[in-house]
Amino acid sequence: MIKYLKNLLYPVFLVSFLFSCTEEAPAPDQDTVRESNMAMGNPSGAGTDANNYLLEKPQYSLSYNSGKGIPNWVSWHLSKAWLGEAPRQDDFRADNTLPAGFTKVLNSDYTGSGFDRGHNCPSADRTGSEADNSATFLMTNMIPQAPNNNQRTWASLESYCRTLVDQGNELYVIMGNYGRGGDGSNGQKETIASGKITVPSRIWKVIVVLPLGTNDVSRVTASTRVIAVDTPNSNSISNDWDGYRTSVDAIETKTGYDLLSNVPAQVQNILEAKVDTGPTQ
Ligand code: MN
Ligand code: MN
Repeated sequence: MIKYLKNLLYPVFLVSFLFSCTEEAPAPDQDTVRESNMAMGNPSGAGTDANNYLLEKPQYSLSYNSGKGIPNWVSWHLSKAWLGEAPRQDDFRADNTLPAGFTKVLNSDYTGSGFDRGHNCPSADRTGSEADNSATFLMTNMIPQAPNNNQRTWASLESYCRTLVDQGNELYVIMGNYGRGGDGSNGQKETIASGKITVPSRIWKVIVVLPLGTNDVSRVTASTRVIAVDTPNSNSISNDWDGYRTSVDAIETKTGYDLLSNVPAQVQNILEAKVDTGPTQ
């Protein structure tokens, strides 16, 4: 009887063993993967031109505009791999990696202007180490941003990005600006620091939301969530960012950039025409 049972069970073991061999190996821990900050593309074809100068740092990539003293755009990857316990460094300072002859903005250039030193890549998105956090305080990562835009509208959008990460996503965020003239806490200004720094009139952001995984660009489909916002650089801005949602196409028209250019054109065409209607918190 026992021998008979053995004969019966042996094929069952064999089959289950074969199944266990064909199962996929466990995926590496995606939480540890810091991916390219420019995976979605180089929106302005930034290179060596002083007003469209590509600066690639481990923590973010940007196009610097020496004539304006601000970045044209900043692009970064956000996932749990970038988040840790490092405290806010608050060490605002000139970016000495800029070539000689470029406008180097100083921390003091914003003093008394009525505009915040508004981070593009946020301090709270780079807390993996003190060095990572400190990198976000370089003045090449700053724009003169109306305090109510920075501290209310923008802060809640930045916070929502990290909520999306908490929910199991990774993001590609591109922030930029265009136009000339904003109103801060000391009124309307076209420039600050005696013309050294241009105050943009509009501040935009494009956020690509993907479930945590690998080969990110190839996973962008026509149904990927993309949040695009375009806000006034004004102290009379609404606190709620969702009312400023727009399409990527609209931002491309205003700026002349090609956003998400590494995504296949047919997917871009569909994604970029949409206006997000998803959750906002
Ligand atoms: Mn990924
Ligand atoms: Mn595009």
